Amino acid sequence: MEVGKERIAIIGGGFAGMTAAYELGKRGYQTFLFERMPELGGLAGTFPIEGTRLERGYHHWFTSDTHIVAQMEELGLGDRVMWISSRTGWFYGGKIWNWVTPMDILSFTPLPLVDRFRLGLTALYLQKARNKLDDYEKITAATWLKKYAGRQAWNKAWGPLFRGKFGKEAENIPLVWLWYKTVLRIGSRKGLTKEVLGYPRGSFQVLIDALENAIRKQAGRIYLGTTVKRIVTENGTACGLQFAEDDPSQAAQRELADGNAYASFDRIICTAPSFATLKIVSELPSDYVAKMQAAKYMAAVLLILKMKQSMSPIYWMNVADRSIPFVATIEHTNFIEPKVYNNKRVMYVSNYLDASSPFFQMSREELFNAYLPHLRKINPDFSPDWVEEMWHFKEAAAQPIVPLNYSKQIPDHRTPLRHLYLANTTQIYPEDRGTNYSVRLGQMIARMVEDDMRSENGRNS
Ligand SMILES: Cc1cc2nc3c(=O)[nH]c(=O)nc-3n(C[C@H](O)[C@H](O)[C@H](O)COP(=O)(O)OP(=O)(O)OC[C@H]3O[C@@H](n4cnc5c(N)ncnc54)[C@H](O)[C@@H]3O)c2cc1C
Repeated sequence: MEVGKERIAIIGGGFAGMTAAYELGKRGYQTFLFERMPELGGLAGTFPIEGTRLERGYHHWFTSDTHIVAQMEELGLGDRVMWISSRTGWFYGGKIWNWVTPMDILSFTPLPLVDRFRLGLTALYLQKARNKLDDYEKITAATWLKKYAGRQAWNKAWGPLFRGKFGKEAENIPLVWLWYKTVLRIGSRKGLTKEVLGYPRGSFQVLIDALENAIRKQAGRIYLGTTVKRIVTENGTACGLQFAEDDPSQAAQRELADGNAYASFDRIICTAPSFATLKIVSELPSDYVAKMQAAKYMAAVLLILKMKQSMSPIYWMNVADRSIPFVATIEHTNFIEPKVYNNKRVMYVSNYLDASSPFFQMSREELFNAYLPHLRKINPDFSPDWVEEMWHFKEAAAQPIVPLNYSKQIPDHRTPLRHLYLANTTQIYPEDRGTNYSVRLGQMIARMVEDDMRSENGRNS
C-alpha cells in the first residue's frame, strides 16, 4: 500500500495517543484519534480556574524529562518551559519537616540519630547505584529498606508513604520503583539544597492544544467524547473499530464506517489502560492476557481547594501520619506564583487508593468533610471559610503497580493480534509512569508501526 494511504486508529487521547498521532502524521500517515472524554489530555487533562487552566492531578517535570521538553521545543513552546525551585516537606508527629537537603533528614528527630544517618545514606546509595535493574526488581523496597535504612525508618518514614501510595500492596513494591524515583527526584536537585521542577507557563493545556492543532493540520481526525466499544478482528488480525451507541460516538460510526458494521483501519494502537483494553478486545490469547493483568492499578482521588490564604510554605508535603486519610497535600501556588490565579491559593489534597475504597465513592462535600479535621492537624487555623471553590476528580487507572521481576512479564507492544499495538502506562518500566514517558512511548510506537508497515509493504510489493 502507498505510504499515507494506511488508516491508523489510535485509541486514547492522553500524551501517548496524541504523540503517536502527531508522529505518524508527521510521516504522512492518516491518523484517527478516539478519546472517550470530551477533551484531550488523559490523566494530564486540565480544567478552567481563574481565567487559566490547571491539571486535574498536580503535574510537574523533573530535569530528566527530556522527551516532553524537546516536544515543547519542537512545537514552538520552548520559551514556556519554566524551571522553578520548590520545597518538599514531610508531615509526621503533628509537625511539618523540611525534606530536601541532607541536613533536613539529619534534623528528623522522630528517628534516632543513627537511623537518620542510615536513612540519608540509603537514599544517597540508591541515587548513585547503577546497573541494578536485575538485582532491584527481585527484591521489594520494604525488605531492602528495613534491612539497610532500619525498621524505624520504615515504620516512621517510608512505610506510611508506601501504604499511602500503594495501599495493601505497600510491602510488595519492587525496589526498582524506589530506585528510579530516587535517581530522578534527587537528580532534579540543584546542588544539595534545592529541588528544581519544571512546568509549562499556561499549564499542560498549552502542549495539549499545540498537539491537537498539529494533528489537525496534518489532516489527522480527532473524535472527542467517542468511546471505542470493540476492536474488531478477523482471522487473528485487528481490522476495525465499533463505537458506543451514545450520540458523540456515533459521529465516528457515521463518518467512518461507511454504512458497515464497523470502521475499518489498517493498524490500531491502543493506549487505554489494560483493564479497559481487555473490555474491548476479546480474542487475545490467555498468556498475553495474563501479562496484561500482571500490573495492577491504584486509583486516585483529588480534592482541589481554591483558598483565600496559604496552608503552609511547602509545595509538596508527604503525609507520613497514617491516621490522616490522604497521602499528600500539594500546594500548587507554592510552586507557581499565586498571581497566575488572581492571588488565590490552590492546593490539591491527594489520595491513592483502591477503586473499591469508600473515599473513591464519596462526593466532593463528603470528601471535604472527611478531610477537614485532618487538614486542621497540618494547620490548626485552617477553616472552611478559607475555601472559595473546590473541585473533585477521580482516576481509576492513576498508578500502575508492577510485580517483582516485571521485566519478564511486560506485555509486548505488538500484541498477538496482527496490526494491534498496545502502548499504555503499564509498559513504562523501570521508570514510573509520567507524561515524559508517555511522550517517549508515543514516539516509539509510531516508529514501530511505521517500520512494520514498511517491511510488510516491502514484502508485498
Ligand atoms: C494524580 C496524578 C499526578 C500525576 N503527576 C504527574 C507529574 O507530576 N508529572 C508527570 O509527568 N506525570 C504525572 N502523572 C502521570 C501522567 O499524567 C500520566 O503518566 C500520563 O498522562 C499518561 O498518559 P497516557 O496517554 O499514557 O495515558 P492516559 O492519560 O491514561 O490516556 C489514556 C486515554 O485513553 C482513553 N480511553 C480509555 N478507554 C477508551 C475507550 N474505550 N475509547 C476511547 N478512549 C479511551 C482515556 O480516557 C484516556 O484519556 C500524574 C498522574 C496522576 C493521576
